[in-house]
Amino acid sequence: MKVIFKNNTYKSYQDLLDREYKDKPITILTKGESNAKLKKGITEKADVMLLHMLPHNKADVLMNRKVKRTLCPFAKLAQCHVACLNTAGRGGIIKRGETTNAIEVARLRRSLYYLDDRENFLAQLHKEITAFMNKCKRNNKKPCIRLNGTSDIQYEYELYQGKNMFEHFPEIQFYDYTKIPTRKVAHIENYHTTWSYSEANEGYAKLSEKVSDNIAVVFRTKDLPSRFKGRKVIDGDKTDMRFLDEPNVIVGLKAKGQAKKDYTGFVIDVLQIA
Ligand code: SF4
Repeated sequence: MKVIFKNNTYKSYQDLLDREYKDKPITILTKGESNAKLKKGITEKADVMLLHMLPHNKADVLMNRKVKRTLCPFAKLAQCHVACLNTAGRGGIIKRGETTNAIEVARLRRSLYYLDDRENFLAQLHKEITAFMNKCKRNNKKPCIRLNGTSDIQYEYELYQGKNMFEHFPEIQFYDYTKIPTRKVAHIENYHTTWSYSEANEGYAKLSEKVSDNIAVVFRTKDLPSRFKGRKVIDGDKTDMRFLDEPNVIVGLKAKGQAKKDYTGFVIDVLQIA
């Protein structure tokens, strides 16, 4: 797969990484300021960071690897990888004549770091979270982190020195959207999850009846409905700080990026609203 990036042509993504990034350090966490929606959550009292990877098996696909490991175990069933938010905002903008951009390359490098060198990835993540927490302490702000910006990793099982990040940092408010209905995280006090809906698969959609978490639904309509599946709909685009949402609601999100053209069932059309 030929790659054209910053006016240069590479034989493959591997060739690009070898020639341009061999000794360049990787930063795992991204400042909330870089994301229009997360930025809204930064106040005098709170700061936020997030972690962006390439969703589903895209890293291994781009690297043309035989085994394609997924970072989103329910993506195929929910069909959300087709219209993933990975392509919303600057991540989806590619210069005319080129085939990738700096954001995609950064997400690719982070994903490969996680997939190929887990121990060092987690050690560095711990270090970056510590630095962020100390900065928040100095500025008297509440630290908030979304680890799955564009992935669906079960961080409750990712252990560094025998503990997961939620245990290492009880003073940090972690939060995520997830497509995994079987996660056992309700007991983790500093981790909030919002389950993400899709009608791509009937069985998956039916799970919404059993989910006690708030449910995020992506609507194609400009205006959100007032109710969906018997629950009140709130505007989820006003802020990304999902842990502040009232309980038992639908978090309505407007389709962005590739999602606007998605007809898999991940994006809900106005006609389906009831
Ligand atoms: S929407 Fe979430 S679960 Fe689906 S592919 Fe994107 S990051 Fe993964």
